[in-house]
Amino acid sequence: MLRGAAAAALVAALGSGLAGQRAADPADLVVLDAKILTVDDGFRVAQAVAVRDGRFVAVGSTAEVRARIGATTRVIDGGGRTVIPGLIDSHVHALGVAAAEAVQPFHNLQSIGELQDWIRAAAKRAPPDTWIWTPRVYPPRLRERRFPTRQELDAAAPHHPVAVDGLYALSLNTLALHAAGVTRASADPPGGAIAKDARGEPTGLLRNVGAMLARFRPSTSPVPRLDMLERVHEQYVQTGITSVIERDATVEGYRAYEALQRAGRLQVRATVTLRIPHPEDAVQTEGFVTGLPLRFGSGDDWLKVGPLKIFVDGGILLGTAFMREPYGPGAHDLYAIDDPAYRGALTLTPEQIRSAIAIGHSHGWQMVAHVTGDAGVDAVLDAFAAAQAQSPSPDRRDTLIHAYFVHADSAARAARLGVLVDTQPAWYYKDADALAAGLGRERLAHFIGLRTLRQAGVTVAINTDHMFGLDRDEALNPFNPFLTMYAATTRRTQSGAIVSGDEAVSREEALRMMTSAAARFSFDEKTRGSIEVGKLADFVVLDADILTCPPERLRAIRPEMTVIGGRVAYEHAPRR
Ligand SMILES: [Zn+2]
Repeated sequence: MLRGAAAAALVAALGSGLAGQRAADPADLVVLDAKILTVDDGFRVAQAVAVRDGRFVAVGSTAEVRARIGATTRVIDGGGRTVIPGLIDSHVHALGVAAAEAVQPFHNLQSIGELQDWIRAAAKRAPPDTWIWTPRVYPPRLRERRFPTRQELDAAAPHHPVAVDGLYALSLNTLALHAAGVTRASADPPGGAIAKDARGEPTGLLRNVGAMLARFRPSTSPVPRLDMLERVHEQYVQTGITSVIERDATVEGYRAYEALQRAGRLQVRATVTLRIPHPEDAVQTEGFVTGLPLRFGSGDDWLKVGPLKIFVDGGILLGTAFMREPYGPGAHDLYAIDDPAYRGALTLTPEQIRSAIAIGHSHGWQMVAHVTGDAGVDAVLDAFAAAQAQSPSPDRRDTLIHAYFVHADSAARAARLGVLVDTQPAWYYKDADALAAGLGRERLAHFIGLRTLRQAGVTVAINTDHMFGLDRDEALNPFNPFLTMYAATTRRTQSGAIVSGDEAVSREEALRMMTSAAARFSFDEKTRGSIEVGKLADFVVLDADILTCPPERLRAIRPEMTVIGGRVAYEHAPRR
C-alpha cells in the first residue's frame, strides 16, 4: 500500500492525473532500471516506465514502477540502457520508395564510373531502343561532383536512350535527346532549361523539364504494393522511427495506408500529406480541394490526413533552388550553369503560391511548401503572410519544407508568422563539402542553420526525406535518424570536415527536433513525442547513451527494441 502510494506520488510529480487513479491496475509492460529521457518540457530523466492499454501509466523510479507489476506484466530489465521517445520522421516518401523498389531496386551509385557500369549492365538486359533510367543520383554526391556528359553516357550505352535521373535535372545521351526531339533548335520550355554548348548543341543536361520526358519514364503503379510499403515501414521501426509524415501523396496513396491499416499491417503511425496537383491554376485547385474525399486532421492515432503541399522551387543539389544571390562562377562545375546572373527560379509565380495557400486555408487545411532557396523562402513567407491575413486562424502551423539557406531575418519572420520548418541535416553531412566548393563557404555559413532558426524561436523538425532504397545508411536519402542527429550536433560532413560549425545544436535539442517538436507538425504534441503519463507508449531502447556517447558513436546507434503503443514492434535480440 505504502509503495503504491509513493509510486502514485512520484508519478503525480512527473505526469498528471490518470496514473494515480489506476494504481491498482497491473501494467501490460514495464521497463525498469533504465535511463529514460522523457523529452518532456523539463527534459526530465526517469528510471522506469509502466504501460497499460497502449499508453504510459507511470514514469518514475524503478521501485515505484515495480508496484505496477502483475501476473501478466512483461518486465523488461533496462540494464541501465538509454530509452528515448519513439522517433518521428516528419518527412519521408515511403509510398515512393515502395513503388520504385517494386520496379527497380535502388543502388547508391557514387561515381560516373559506377553509373556507367550500371548502365552497361542494364543495356545488356534491355532490347535496343528501350529507355534506360538510372537510379536517382545527385551530382554533388558523385565523386566527380558533376553530371555525366552525353558522351560518357553514349560510351556506356550507344544503342539505348539513357536518362540519368537527378529529379529536377536530367542528363541524357544522344539517342535519348533524339527520341525526345531535343535539338539545337529547341527552345527552353517554360521554367525549364536545355543546356547547350558553345556551338549551340544540346549537352544532354536538362533542368526542370519533367513534363517533356514523362512519357518515356517507366510506369510505376500509382498504388504501391502493400507488401513493399510494409517492408519500408519495417525498416523504419528497426531504426527507432515510430511515426512518420508521408510528404507527397495522392488520395490513392492515402488509400494504400488505409488498406494496410485495415489489414492490421500498418507498422508505424502515419500522417499523410496530399499534394495539390495543379497549384498554378486556381480554378483547378479550388476544385481539387473541395472535391477531396478526405478532411484535414481526420483519422486516428495510427493514420491521419495531413496538410496540403505545393512545390515552389527545385533543389540546391541540382542548381534549381531559387536564391537571393546569383549562383556564381562555381556553378559551372557543379551544375553546368554559365549565366553569371543565374539565381534559379520559382516554379510558381508569387500570385500562384499565394492563391494556392489561400484556397487551402479557406477550407481549413494546414499548408506546407517545398522550398529550398532563400529567395524562394521569402516568396513563400510573403504568401503565408498574405493568406493568413485574408483568413486568420491562431494556429495554422504552415510549414516551410527544406528552407536550407537560413538568414536571421527570414527566421525571425517565420517565427512571427508561426511558420514551422521541416529540414534535413543529413544533406549537410552528404553535401556541404561539394556545395562549399561550388558556391563558396560564405553561402554555406547558415546552411540548414538549426541554431539560427531556434534562436529566432522557430519550431524545427529534423528528418530524412527518404526517397529510395531500403538500407538506412545507403538509401537516398539515408533514413538513419541517428545520422540526422549526428549531423545536427557535430556539423561534420562525410569527409569529417566542419563547413559551418556555429549552427550545431545540443544533443537534447536535436532529440527534441525528432520527438516532441516534430509532434507539433502533425498537431500530435498532446499524444506523442515525449514519455509522459497519458501519452501513447512509443519508445526506443538504445544500445548507447545518446547524450554521453562519443560523437562518432552517435550515428552508429542502433535500437535494441522499438515499442509502439505498448507493443514490442522490433527487438534486436531476444530478451528476458
Ligand atoms: Zn521530400
